[in-house]
Amino acid sequence: MRLFISFSISRALFFFNNPIRSFSSMATTLSSVTASLSPKSRLRGVVFDMDGTLTVPAIDFQAMYRAVLGEQDYLAIKSKCPSGIDILNHIENWSPDKQHTAYETIADFERQGLDRLQIMPGALELCGFLDSRNIRRGLITRNVKAAVDLFHSRFGVTFAPALSREFRPYKPDPAPLLHICSVWEVQPNEVMMVGDSLKDDVACGKQAGAFTCLLDETGRYDSPKYADVEFKPDYKVSSLAHVHSLLEANFDLTP
Ligand SMILES: [Mg+2]
Repeated sequence: MRLFISFSISRALFFFNNPIRSFSSMATTLSSVTASLSPKSRLRGVVFDMDGTLTVPAIDFQAMYRAVLGEQDYLAIKSKCPSGIDILNHIENWSPDKQHTAYETIADFERQGLDRLQIMPGALELCGFLDSRNIRRGLITRNVKAAVDLFHSRFGVTFAPALSREFRPYKPDPAPLLHICSVWEVQPNEVMMVGDSLKDDVACGKQAGAFTCLLDETGRYDSPKYADVEFKPDYKVSSLAHVHSLLEANFDLTP
């Protein structure tokens, strides 16, 4: 018993001092410390979001939403959607003309983003680590296929499958993640979804039954307005560089 308690406390101290933060309450944190004494879950694949996760944020999404929706509708919709605006979903039922203009505006913002594209610090190292353990790497983005192709060619790293906006339905629907699991012939609970969006990446991952890790570089999701969101991540990191140690500490990574 003494051994168990001291081990638990040392694990708890490790946890609180660690840059990898649990999204949930302290109670959940302590229970996950205890749970970590049971056999670790097997991890056979990691699926990444692209914009803001594998690449440094280069698109000003709030400016894009303003341009597409107009200031008044933007503010009205934003107040009703605390976890973020689903712009593609909003324009889905617009008239063809209005929708065409909206897609053009979105494409303009995405083109400007491509010009400034940079890979996220820690991304290549994390890919190298996953490759060394034979853990598969996939990608799901709401951006277009051309942007994924550019990302692959510019940074010399490839994710497969890499599903873009052309795959319907897109995130936050779990369909793209379930599709990747079936291509890989693994169960969703053997996969982790990593992304910087609570409403798209975490919602997609949780609904598919996968583990989820939220990349929150600035701590913006610490705000109380996200306390009651429907889908909460299993893990939260402030840098991709922390994912490697998170995986080693919490998962069975044997191929
Ligand atoms: Mg993103």
